[in-house]
Amino acid sequence: MNKTEKSYNSWHGPEPEIPLSVISETIETEILICGAGNAGMAAAIVAGNKGAKTIVIEKDKKMGLIKPYMGAIDTKAQKAAGNKASVDKEEIIKELVNYSTKYTDELKIYGDYKRSKYLGTNKVDEKLVRLWADESGATFDFIAEELSEYGIKHVAEYNIGHGHHGPFKAFPIHTKLLVPFHKGGIFAVSHGGVYVLEKFFIKKVKSYGVKLMFNTGLVKVIKEGNRVVGVIARKSNGKYIRINASKGVLIATGGYAANEKLIAKRNPEAVSVSTVRYEQKCNRGDGIRAGVWAGGEKDDYPSAMVFDRGPVKPGGKADVPIKAGATFDSFFMASQPFMKVNMNGKRFTSESVPYDIVLYPLQDQKNGVSCIIWDANYWKHIKSFDTIGCSRMIKSNSRPKTLEGMGFLPNYILMTLMRMKGMLKKSGTIEGLAKKLKLPPEELKATVDRYNEMARIGADRDFGKDPDTLLPLTKPPFYGITNAGWFLTTMDGLRINANIQVVDKNGNAIEGLYAAGDVAGGFFGDNLYPELCVGVAVGKTMTFARHAILHMTGNV
Ligand SMILES: Cc1cc2nc3c(=O)[nH]c(=O)nc-3n(C[C@H](O)[C@H](O)[C@H](O)COP(=O)(O)OP(=O)(O)OC[C@H]3O[C@@H](n4cnc5c(N)ncnc54)[C@H](O)[C@@H]3O)c2cc1C
Repeated sequence: MNKTEKSYNSWHGPEPEIPLSVISETIETEILICGAGNAGMAAAIVAGNKGAKTIVIEKDKKMGLIKPYMGAIDTKAQKAAGNKASVDKEEIIKELVNYSTKYTDELKIYGDYKRSKYLGTNKVDEKLVRLWADESGATFDFIAEELSEYGIKHVAEYNIGHGHHGPFKAFPIHTKLLVPFHKGGIFAVSHGGVYVLEKFFIKKVKSYGVKLMFNTGLVKVIKEGNRVVGVIARKSNGKYIRINASKGVLIATGGYAANEKLIAKRNPEAVSVSTVRYEQKCNRGDGIRAGVWAGGEKDDYPSAMVFDRGPVKPGGKADVPIKAGATFDSFFMASQPFMKVNMNGKRFTSESVPYDIVLYPLQDQKNGVSCIIWDANYWKHIKSFDTIGCSRMIKSNSRPKTLEGMGFLPNYILMTLMRMKGMLKKSGTIEGLAKKLKLPPEELKATVDRYNEMARIGADRDFGKDPDTLLPLTKPPFYGITNAGWFLTTMDGLRINANIQVVDKNGNAIEGLYAAGDVAGGFFGDNLYPELCVGVAVGKTMTFARHAILHMTGNV
């Protein structure tokens, strides 16, 4: 084990001693789910459906946000869409397993770029990727069926634009749960805003008699021999309770993105290219810690989901501490493959690669940020870029409609908001824009001239950007914004087997203990999230949550 791995594995500290005398109450159940987010609520529906006596504890006063993009294969909605939504399973499994390796081995854009110290093979557990490929269709069909009584529809988004971003292939695995408009669905379909979906998850879970306990956080699990028999949890009033679970405990407490010190220590590269992180205040790594104290093994490498949507004012920097913010502190349009320059006014990478891959070369650039430049033709360019997933801005042509693509007006409003915040700048000339962005004017002008010349001949001789995204910047006014990463969540966690049981360092299952969602690892490697497998994070989260409950209840 090298030095980095050693320090990584020692982050959790000693297990706290909690004497029996401070336990104010003991509760009996069959299944205990810790965390009411994507994994926990999906698991609760399955447990309720199977008739198991179930409790969900949630540290926050409300459930976590159910995220909109759910990656799956062979759902009924996809089958109805026919060939357009069909995926070669073996091909996508290979893509997911090789994603981080492909980045350096095939792309070879960034030379001896720093993150390579973590690179290697066998980090992703192929058995888990295969499990997602095999069971995600049934999982989302099940959830859609369970929620159909509220009018919720499951749709397949198969429009994958050009089918690739740079050399990375896109797959039509993106599915979505749409809430009807009369039930407040307008929020459910907007970018990132699925606030109304949660009330239907809660309704469903309660209809099965599942007990939801908010303001109650997992502290540690209780083991008898090699079997986990329950947990000790802490209520927000400071009281400790014990919950015994005869069939099993599912840890679904998310990642550790809210733990600013920990992400700086464990995910230094992702943090060094981020300016803002999404606020999920309870996601501090509690579940990983509890699993490790119980003897669980965890990934020895860091992994994070970071998108290129972290705007700052001109002259701003990416680095710790990265402040917590809401969705509107990010800037969606930044994921469009417009020209990007460093603070010296020079291009440094191909802008057409996926959203986090485009970020990591910023580690070697001044301030860890880039400036994105566009012109008055931007909407035409966005149409031509035709990007996918949560970067999609033009309407999708998938049928039935998935309501993807925010459209011109909402984007214009977001641009105006960024101008009002002093982040987005506008000028009649490139040199004028450069001054406002604190870039060297002559250098930026020379870069734009060269870029326009390469656009004219249709070939990026410097970084191999896709020709369909290499469009000239000629029509004033010109716009620009200083930008780096939006840190969404961490994805390195407890190692699990294909029954979603937490395993020890020898790969042996710890009986009675399961982990699903961002608290569990083995699925994504080396900081990278494969965006073109749209929604695969929620996809594997809910698929594994279902599988864990089916295993606990003897149904697999
Ligand atoms: C803004 C945003 C948008 C995203 N959109 C997508 C998307 O569209 N598609 C996609 O695939 N991925 C998306 N992701 C990533 C995705 O959310 C995660 O990968 C994952 O699916 C989260 O599920 P989870 O259940 O592990 O965590 P969460 O949904 O975060 O749930 C964890 C829950 O556990 C609770 N908790 C924490 N500690 C404790 C404790 N000690 N005891 C009890 N409860 C605790 C938390 O309060 C929280 O409610 C997005 C992430 C963010 C931040």
